[in-house]
Amino acid sequence: MTNWVYSFGCGETQSLDIDRDRLGGKGASLAEMARMGLPVPPGLTIISDVCQHFYVHAKGFPDGLKQEIEAGLRAIEAATGRQFGGAETPLLLSVRSGSRVSMPGMMDTVLNLGLNDETVKALAADTGDERFAWDSYRRFIQMYADVVLGLDQEFFEEILEDRMSELGYAYETQLSADELKDIVSEYEKLLDEELGESFPQDPCEQLWGAISAVFSSWTSARATAYRALHDIPFDWGTAVNIQAMVFGNLGNDSATGVAFTRNPSTGEKALYGEFLLNAQGEDVVAGIRTPQSITEAGRIASGAEKPSLEKLMPRAFSELVTVAARLERHYGDLQDMEFTIERGTLWMLQTRNGKRAAGAAMKIAMDMADEGLISRDEAIIRVDPATLDQMLHPTISPDFKANPVGSGLPASPGAVTGEIVFSAEEAISAHAEGRKVILVRTETSPEDIHGMTAAEGVLTTRGGMTSHAAVVARGMGVPCVTGAGNMRVDRFDNILHGVGGVLMHAGDLVTIDGSTGRVLKGAVPTQKPALSDDFQRLMGWADAARRMKVRTNADTPGDARTAREFGAEGIGLCRTEHMFFEGDRIKTMRRMILAEDEAGRRAALDQLLPMQRADFEEIFAIMHGLPVTIRLLDPPLHEFLPKNEEEREEVARALDMETSLLKQRVEALYEFNPMLGHRGCRLAISFPEIAEMQARAIFEAAVAAARLTGEAVVPEIMVPLVSLRSELEYVKGRIDGIAGTVMRESGMTLTYRVGTMIELPRAALRAHEIAEEAAFFSLGTNDLTQTTFGLSRDDAPGFLGAYQKKGILERDPFMSLDFDGVGELMKLATERGRMAKPDLQIGICGEHGGDPISIRFCETLALDYVSCSPFRVPTARLAAAQASIREREDPASGKAVATA
Ligand code: ADP
Ligand code: MG
Ligand code: MG
Repeated sequence: MTNWVYSFGCGETQSLDIDRDRLGGKGASLAEMARMGLPVPPGLTIISDVCQHFYVHAKGFPDGLKQEIEAGLRAIEAATGRQFGGAETPLLLSVRSGSRVSMPGMMDTVLNLGLNDETVKALAADTGDERFAWDSYRRFIQMYADVVLGLDQEFFEEILEDRMSELGYAYETQLSADELKDIVSEYEKLLDEELGESFPQDPCEQLWGAISAVFSSWTSARATAYRALHDIPFDWGTAVNIQAMVFGNLGNDSATGVAFTRNPSTGEKALYGEFLLNAQGEDVVAGIRTPQSITEAGRIASGAEKPSLEKLMPRAFSELVTVAARLERHYGDLQDMEFTIERGTLWMLQTRNGKRAAGAAMKIAMDMADEGLISRDEAIIRVDPATLDQMLHPTISPDFKANPVGSGLPASPGAVTGEIVFSAEEAISAHAEGRKVILVRTETSPEDIHGMTAAEGVLTTRGGMTSHAAVVARGMGVPCVTGAGNMRVDRFDNILHGVGGVLMHAGDLVTIDGSTGRVLKGAVPTQKPALSDDFQRLMGWADAARRMKVRTNADTPGDARTAREFGAEGIGLCRTEHMFFEGDRIKTMRRMILAEDEAGRRAALDQLLPMQRADFEEIFAIMHGLPVTIRLLDPPLHEFLPKNEEEREEVARALDMETSLLKQRVEALYEFNPMLGHRGCRLAISFPEIAEMQARAIFEAAVAAARLTGEAVVPEIMVPLVSLRSELEYVKGRIDGIAGTVMRESGMTLTYRVGTMIELPRAALRAHEIAEEAAFFSLGTNDLTQTTFGLSRDDAPGFLGAYQKKGILERDPFMSLDFDGVGELMKLATERGRMAKPDLQIGICGEHGGDPISIRFCETLALDYVSCSPFRVPTARLAAAQASIREREDPASGKAVATA
């Protein structure tokens, strides 16, 4: 009965009885391959529990480990017919790390262990290749000294390189046995000098040294950093695999390499990979020699001259092809394999699910479903929804070597080039002249919105992923880089300062890459992605699999059109405030706001009515046959007013108003906390004529669009920022009144609904009362997050970074829902709302509606739809399908998401 050590490939494969998390990915794959009868050098796995025992619980190596390892070694000796430390047929070992998830290159490996001044001679005699034996010994000393004794590789490289240049050699394969012997003695001398001790000759001492070092590599700085980056818990620990060596450096009929079952960058269904002749594993990654292509097709495609493995070793190659196919079928996924060929015989050293590019992931998933390797549901699960949005935007050509002049946050994907402009007005006028521009600002404000629409891309030197610029740009699908802190905007001289003293003036070309956050000087080659057949087909499968509908947040006809093309099934949020910034309207809007009495307001509103109606008519025509939710005016009115003295004078002139009077009105509208001030339904209650004008515009537009398209939309009028049932009751009364009037005037019956945003904690708590007045709820999770935390989204980037760094808050709650707090309120609101009104329609319209994990949570609440910005619609369709599948297959996973 073993506790800590399980062997593979030595007769029975014990490690199959153990949970793969404890064996580590490498150990599990070696065991699995051995069980399948594939050629795997025999070995044993020390499970990760030992690492936990050692580091996490600081209890040293557990009792009995030594005996178990010894027993395992005897089994390897029996399987190979070799003896560890033996004077005739010595067994050499590799000691390899292997954690639960692959951490490529982060931890250590020691190869050729068991060599010493005696066994090296035995190995030479046994293989009849003296050169090989000394090459292996040289490699072993170098690796062992680095990993176990902590003496940098560089010292050894220096000796090796010096010797090679003396001899005039280009590759270490040119070194003869005698020359390698000399190098080994120089290595041994170096160890003596640097460490004051000689190289350990006892194979057992070597083995324990290597085991301890490989376990310790779990705590190395690079492994720690990698874990932090990928959210891998420290207490998982790593397993250690001890395995008989096979030799790729035994002459020119030996080789080592890496292969993928399909091409990981294109997804093409063909074996893909590289190898080196007469070499050991680490040489391929280290890039000492340029590796050769495995397949003949790959060699031709890369234009290389050196022959392929297919040509050189046809037998081993065809065996590799067979093994690859079996492994892919077995695991049902793209495999990334390590192999070695020893004197013509193929040995498999590792296999794992391969990493792949976004486009390749989609192709591979679709192909595998078509081949019957995986189900359609599985294909849907395999594609990361977040990557879809990259596929809709141009990207920088992969073979272009970029040299950034600045970097910020990848706020909205896509790579674009344009002339630098420093203000929204310049962007608009340049756009009108047909020039392509990048709007460069320190930060953007809502008034820049038209400049942002006119620009190809937006760059800000401040602000985070949820800054105004970022949210708006994502919403519009405009590529955007925010918070480029290593750049500076000098508005005085109109210069953009980049890193390394680079200066860029207005009119200079700049490229931003919103997928990576890079900023580049000048124009850069980009690729425009086509929506592939695979893309369309996958979307079709996703649509069939999902339960929740997907709507879009669209404020303009352009947004609505894009979203419908991307498959939106209605508009979940149409904000009306942007409409009042357009062209001349802001003037009329200001006149309305600054009016001293209702009559003055009504006069201005009468002028706004036809403009609003025209906006809605166009949107309704585009969305014919689908529901459209329109939100009544939400922001505090002073957002529409001039901010400084100069602007105030200009506005006063334009409105023919005393500057002092205007100043008085602006001051009267000033608020200490506008976010919690006179906004939302509060405006409709103080100035019902505003809501009435909007309702009239909506109903009249619905009538006109229905006549035009023959297919009516169902307008859903949404009242924002409600916390009391009586607020909604009052505003709804006004809307119903107008609906009656318009129906009488037009002689047409309209179906419409009045509902509310649930975006304040009180509304969530009293949802059962509010539901009695509401036909629908829309969970406004942006404001609900702000008000639940008491945290302003615009101010949060200033300190949330510190929260995340200190581990106080894991995720930015504006990007990914706070399930425990905000989610709890959403759950309450849904349950209580449906209790009062079982057919209450409930959706979500916050930014979270496009975030895959948040969408998974929405599925657990059985929401009717999610709504997100147009470019995230495909992402949401796929994420909603995944959520449905997971909820069907494993309802508990929804809770896991919520508590993750
Ligand atoms: P990593 O996790 O960094 O890939 P590995 O444990 O896979 O580290 O080892 C690195 C390389 O060492 C492998 O690519 C393989 O070629 C070589 N290697 C490991 N074990 C053996 C072995 N038993 N025989 C020959 N080569 C080996
Ligand atoms: Mg490996
Ligand atoms: Mg809101």
